[in-house]
Amino acid sequence: MVDLKYDVVVIGGGMGGMCAGALAVKEGYRTLVVEKRPMVGGRFSTETVDGFRLMTGAPFIHQSGWVPRICKEVGAEFDRTPCLEVFYWVNGQEYKLPLQHRMNALFEICNRIAANKARLVGSMVKEIASRKIMASIHTAVSEPEKLGSTTIKEWLLRYTDNEDVHGIFDAISVGMLMAHSYEIPVYNFFHFMATQKGFNDVDLSTFGNLANMEKLSAVVKAGGDVWTNSSARKIIVHKGTATGVVIDREGREAEIPCKAVVSNIGVRETVALAGEESFTEEYLADMRVKMRPAPITIIHIASEQPLCLPGGEAGAMLVANARRITDAIPLTNSCPAMAPKGQHLTWACATPPSTLFPIDPEEEERQCLKDIDMILPDWRRKGGRILKMDIRNIDHDLPEGRTWLGPAYNMPRETPIRNVFNVGDAVCSPGIGGTSGCAEAAKRAIETIKKQRLVK
Ligand SMILES: Cc1cc2nc3c(=O)[nH]c(=O)nc-3n(C[C@H](O)[C@H](O)[C@H](O)COP(=O)(O)OP(=O)(O)OC[C@H]3O[C@@H](n4cnc5c(N)ncnc54)[C@H](O)[C@@H]3O)c2cc1C
Repeated sequence: MVDLKYDVVVIGGGMGGMCAGALAVKEGYRTLVVEKRPMVGGRFSTETVDGFRLMTGAPFIHQSGWVPRICKEVGAEFDRTPCLEVFYWVNGQEYKLPLQHRMNALFEICNRIAANKARLVGSMVKEIASRKIMASIHTAVSEPEKLGSTTIKEWLLRYTDNEDVHGIFDAISVGMLMAHSYEIPVYNFFHFMATQKGFNDVDLSTFGNLANMEKLSAVVKAGGDVWTNSSARKIIVHKGTATGVVIDREGREAEIPCKAVVSNIGVRETVALAGEESFTEEYLADMRVKMRPAPITIIHIASEQPLCLPGGEAGAMLVANARRITDAIPLTNSCPAMAPKGQHLTWACATPPSTLFPIDPEEEERQCLKDIDMILPDWRRKGGRILKMDIRNIDHDLPEGRTWLGPAYNMPRETPIRNVFNVGDAVCSPGIGGTSGCAEAAKRAIETIKKQRLVK
């Protein structure tokens, strides 16, 4: 092990790390990816429980995003199944979003809900006209300062105080931006809609996320190595340049020399490995302000019959105004291979009332169980059982996001150490988030390594 030499060491085998590793190998760089868990993928992986394939994080890949683009480039195309239908669950009623012109349709549904309520209480409702929305999207991209610090909730209150409509927007906000509608400025919402098309073009991994990530792993192994069960302990820095990484591989530590380091473990963790003394005060201050890891609970439910979208629709259900749950996906409607034959698997995720403060896991569990009874009232009769309730606090190493999604929250990929780069969802380019942002960051990091001739 002491004689091993690599051009690039990638720390962490999440989406960003595996894309970076595969792209580095395609550039001809001898590359090592080290991953502390037994399998690659991080928040885009799968663990098997009772024959069910449970996702460790993201269910969706954007068809028009950077993951398919990079997989094609490196020759590791994923097995994907479209999951395009969207339903809103509002007070026990489901509203289907048509496949076309979704933004307009969303506001039509909201106007309908608000108008029904206004009729009941005999008040007037101010329509949210699509024209105004499109103008706001334009402003968000071209003149963001005009929208200032107005939150999504404040913006929506200009048109309606209907709590169901606010519930829909909150579910969209936590699902896409990792923050509540009352926490994050509306500019980020419009920016995301303009750049990433919301939920409009998403696929699931047909055989689970791990099967797809192993395809990227195979590309890395063709020109380097992937070590699982191996933790990076230290990035060795000498006069502003990294010279290697200390790695604990199954209990034995060794120093692995390299010419560039790509870190996929989050900005704070990169700083911890290299030592604060290697970073500028500005960089550390930026990190303290911008990094906002979002807590999340992921619920995996097995059943004898489908628990939601019983028509077999390949889609997701966004939940308005529940205590915690914001969306549920009947995964086996689209991808039957995720469960043993004849069984069903439903995925749901839940966010606490604040994304900034630590949570009480027991309270989260209680509230999530109440929500399951409310949203899926006959889940027990349909043979439902909870396979896993994965409650991740703000200090969990695989949070929903390492920061909120929006141009103001991201850090640069480059660090004050000239040959150390971060990839992952803390360093996405403006308007790109989640797996797509991680893949894009990987592409840019390897481009920079090439352009700066760090590997000769
Ligand atoms: C519930 C949930 C739902 C989501 N939904 C979506 C969605 O639908 N679509 C979407 O695009 N995104 C979604 N996301 C976000 C998406 O999952 C993440 O943005 C993305 O997967 C993060 O990838 P990453 O490159 O940052 O790496 P990570 O997934 O954070 O992986 C980092 C890896 O580094 C490893 N590691 C850490 N420390 C060390 C060390 N010292 N040495 C070696 N290895 C180490 C970890 O074990 C981990 O495997 C969701 C996330 C969650 C949690």
